[in-house]
Amino acid sequence: MNCRDADKYLLAYIDGEFDGAESSEIEQHFKFCPACRRKVEFELWFKRGVKTANPPEVRAPASLRAAVHRTYREEQVRRIPWALKLAPAAAVVLVFAWIFFQPSIDISMPIVEASVDRHTDNTPFDVQSPDPKQVADYFTTRIKYAVRLPQFRHTNLELLGGRVATLRDAPVAYVAYQGNGRRYSIIAAPGLDRLPVIPESVRMRVNNRDVVITRHNGFLVVLWRAGDMVYSITSNDDESEVVDLVADAEFD
Ligand SMILES: [Zn+2]
Repeated sequence: MNCRDADKYLLAYIDGEFDGAESSEIEQHFKFCPACRRKVEFELWFKRGVKTANPPEVRAPASLRAAVHRTYREEQVRRIPWALKLAPAAAVVLVFAWIFFQPSIDISMPIVEASVDRHTDNTPFDVQSPDPKQVADYFTTRIKYAVRLPQFRHTNLELLGGRVATLRDAPVAYVAYQGNGRRYSIIAAPGLDRLPVIPESVRMRVNNRDVVITRHNGFLVVLWRAGDMVYSITSNDDESEVVDLVADAEFD
């Protein structure tokens, strides 16, 4: 099986449509192909998030869970941080960063792409309010999971509003904030598992949060997890400023 075949059958495999022999054939490819492995990891990560939000529709084969878990452990062993840096951040927040770069592999990263697409289009908001609860309420009847929106009190970001966006055909919450003369776009998606592996990204721990920093089409995209959600914030701000924002994000 080559990468093109693996790509073609990826979703069918994740949906549990393969028998044992077919599964082991594609798993054999994942074992030796980091690019396809990252794809399957991402799809599984996203599906599990959706599964949590909407249990009856999605199931993932146990063999896949085992394969991905195994793969992740192997990768963790291989990754050796080459630098340990103290990143600039709000004075009260101690930030340790274990920084390393992923190998350069071109694969699609739907949440990153969706973030930048929404950030750059000018479609009006469906709901406008500076109140996170009011904006979150708007989403309750329109998307399948409960949305919690952050407040940025120390960094003084003001919520502008939001609308429904799509990620892999699933409706997700898109909101925008402004402050420091800039606009910041956030996609709030379901994400119970760890953050996906994204090529050419930097991973760090900020205020006990796992954070992934990457760039797409010239924009900075920073992902972090809180509760059972994953948030991606897109802006043209500096990396250290956005890391400060993530450290400042609070949920009432
Ligand atoms: Zn491959």
